[in-house]
Amino acid sequence: MSPPFVYMHQVQAVYQNFLGSQEGIVRAVAFGFDEGDVFHVYTAAPKTQLSGYPCASAIQFLSSMPTGDEGFLAAEQARNTMLEREVNFSASQIVIVLLAIEENQLRHRVFISNPEGQFHEGIVKFIPERSELYSRSQGLLETSILENCQVGIVGLGSGGSTVALELAKGGVGNFVLIDFDRLELANMARHTCGTGDLGRYKTKAVRDLLYGKNPYIQIKAAELDINQNLEETKLLLKDCNLIIAATDNERSRFNLNSIALEYKITTIFGRALTRAAGGDVLRVRPDEGPCLGCVFTKEFLASRQEEISQFRQAREETPAYVPDDEVKATIQVGLSSDILPISNMIVKLALVELSRGKNSGISSLEDDLIADFYIWANRREGTYASWPKMEYGSKTPSVLRWYGAKLERNLSCPVCGTQGESLSDEDNIFASQ
Ligand SMILES: [Zn+2]
Repeated sequence: MSPPFVYMHQVQAVYQNFLGSQEGIVRAVAFGFDEGDVFHVYTAAPKTQLSGYPCASAIQFLSSMPTGDEGFLAAEQARNTMLEREVNFSASQIVIVLLAIEENQLRHRVFISNPEGQFHEGIVKFIPERSELYSRSQGLLETSILENCQVGIVGLGSGGSTVALELAKGGVGNFVLIDFDRLELANMARHTCGTGDLGRYKTKAVRDLLYGKNPYIQIKAAELDINQNLEETKLLLKDCNLIIAATDNERSRFNLNSIALEYKITTIFGRALTRAAGGDVLRVRPDEGPCLGCVFTKEFLASRQEEISQFRQAREETPAYVPDDEVKATIQVGLSSDILPISNMIVKLALVELSRGKNSGISSLEDDLIADFYIWANRREGTYASWPKMEYGSKTPSVLRWYGAKLERNLSCPVCGTQGESLSDEDNIFASQ
C-alpha cells in the first residue's frame, strides 16, 4: 500500500504559528478519506465544507527534523503530550505532523497512528498559495483580469449556483452572493450542492463550494430577499463589475434591472421556461441596448412562461384562494441538463463582458455574441412545439442551438424609455412565431 497523502490547509497560519511557538505543539483536526489513503489537516475553522471522517491531529514544531526512525519517536512523544493535555485526544486514527525550519527550508514529516497505536509515515502536501493557484490556471483568460473582478449573483438555485461555480473556476476573484432560500430536498436533484448541505442557506453552501475551488476568493454572502430589502441589495451590488440575475420571479428581475440602470452595471438575466423546455438569456448593457423592461413586456412574458420549480415560487404566482395542493401540482421541473446550457450561455456572456476590450483567448467571442437576447430550446414542447425537427437541416430553427435576437431599446419602455415609440422587431425572430 502506498503511503497516505496528508494535505495541510491554511499553510500561512501554520507557518505563523511555527514562528510564534518554536518547539510548540498545536492542536489540529484531520479528516480521513478512503480507508486512510488521504488526510486533510486543518488548524483553523476551514472555509470549505468538510467531509471525510474526523481524526485527532497535532502539529509539532521542532528545531530540527528527526531523521529515520527518530521521526516515529517524535510523533509518539507528540501524541503523548496531546494525551496529557486533552483527555479525549483519541480517535481511531491520529495524525501527527512534524515541522522544522532548517537552513531557511521548511522540513516536514507526517505520521499516522492506527487504532492499535502504531505509527506509519505519510507524505506531506500543501494546499497551494494564492499566487500558485492562479499561475497554474493561466490559459485562455488572463486570470489577473478576472481575479480583480467582482461579480454579484442574485439567486443561487440550480442556474445561479452553476454560474457561480464556473466563474470561480474561470478565475473570478470576488463575489457577492445573494439568496434567502435554504437548500431543500426538492432542490437536490438539480442543484450543484449535495445532500451534505441540506438545510443550509444556499448562499453559504455555494460560498463553501467556491472556496473548495479557490480558498482565496473574496465572498460576501447575504441572505436577503431583494424584493424585501432593495436598499441593502443595492449597497451590496453597487461596486460589482457585473451582475447575474438568476432569480425566479419577475419582480426581482425588474428590481435588478433598476439597479443595473441606476449604477450602470451590465447585468445578465437568465431563466428557464416551463418544464425547462428551453430558456432565454438577456444581457442588459445600460445605455447601450435594451433593458429588461424593453424586452419583457406583458405579451412577451405570456408567450414564454417561465418554469415553476419551487413551492414558494408557485405560491407567490397563484391567487391566495387556490389551496396549497393545487399550487403544488403546478410545479413542473425540467432536468438539470436542461438548465446547464442556459447557465453556460450566461457564463460565456459574463466572461466576454468581464474581459471586454482586453486581449484574451476568448476575444473573438465578442464578435459572435453581439446580440443582447438569446433563446434556447431543449425540446419541441410548449413555445417550441411547432418547430421542425432538428435532423440535418440548418436553415430552420431547431432544438439545441442558440439563437440571438437583435432587439433595440424601446423608447416607450416603462423603465428606460424616453419617447412614445414602440419596440422595433426588425430581425426579431419572435416576430414571425
Ligand atoms: Zn427599457
